[in-house]
Amino acid sequence: MAAPLDRSATWPYEDGEPQRFSYARADHPTGVAVEEALGALDRGHALFFPSGMAAVTAVLLTLGRPGQTIALAEGAYYGTAVLLRHLEPWGVRFVEYDQTGAPPADADLVWLEAPANPMLTMPDVAAATALGVPVVCDSTVATPLGLRPLELGCTVALHSATKYLGGHDDLVAGVATVRDEQLHRRLWDTRRLTGMVAAADTAWLLLRGLETLELRVARQSATAADLAERLRRHPDVSVVRYPGLGGLVSFDVADGEAALRVERAVRLIENATSLGGTRSKIESRHRWEGERCPPGLLRLSVGLEDADELWVDLEQALAAATA
Ligand code: PLP
Repeated sequence: MAAPLDRSATWPYEDGEPQRFSYARADHPTGVAVEEALGALDRGHALFFPSGMAAVTAVLLTLGRPGQTIALAEGAYYGTAVLLRHLEPWGVRFVEYDQTGAPPADADLVWLEAPANPMLTMPDVAAATALGVPVVCDSTVATPLGLRPLELGCTVALHSATKYLGGHDDLVAGVATVRDEQLHRRLWDTRRLTGMVAAADTAWLLLRGLETLELRVARQSATAADLAERLRRHPDVSVVRYPGLGGLVSFDVADGEAALRVERAVRLIENATSLGGTRSKIESRHRWEGERCPPGLLRLSVGLEDADELWVDLEQALAAATA
């Protein structure tokens, strides 16, 4: 049965007493239903947010303190670094480090990404948790099917649910999952006090997306592994990054101009940002990230299309770039 969709902002008291749900900024039934599903996937207590960045912000506000040093995985989602820089006036200090090794010893909080988007390195989670400080793992790209950070000792597992969890490019949402009940309560306080609450409709759509998560990710991963192999053999492709799991591949062509020609030449694959949806997407990340990533880097989010048809499209786009 589909979950009920309750759009109420407020619910009546009974005998003058607020019940489980009283005001939707704190909790709402459809949000709680999706939190149960998300918590089961990551094996913890999940909190649902109106975007991945809202989840990031809530975690930073809850775990961070002015003057602390945050060690952030380099090559990870650039928006996280941009937010940390934006928050510098509040006393946030961050350093980027190679997450395939140990974090800097003076870090007060470690922020991993599994795998990093778009550089696709996998974190050394054991080296990060060995430091004895809170460890956040953004596993948007791995999904809970590829990695369960809480089982590896991380403090928070975080996702942009806009990507694979939603899976259809029709919602923006985020989730942070923890095991510690006190931390869950503090995060919930941050959410309700700042008002970072997602609508019931978004929760409902996400519940529907989750029904097919396993099927989608299995197919996207198989096609991505196949395309990564074919790209490795292509003479115009110099570097292929694929961490062995998930549906995201990044690869380099000669330079920034060639990357722009490839993305303009695709026909089946959409030239658009984002990842994790049913339709494949490609884009040059240099336009957003500048010096943070190679000019010739293209990020390919593999959808549910036929692998051979995707390859035909990639081949003709690569040919157009060198014509
Ligand atoms: N984390 C990762 C790894 C992402 O790729 C993104 C967005 O691309 C985010 C977080 C932010 O998510 P949202 O766009 O849902 O705010």
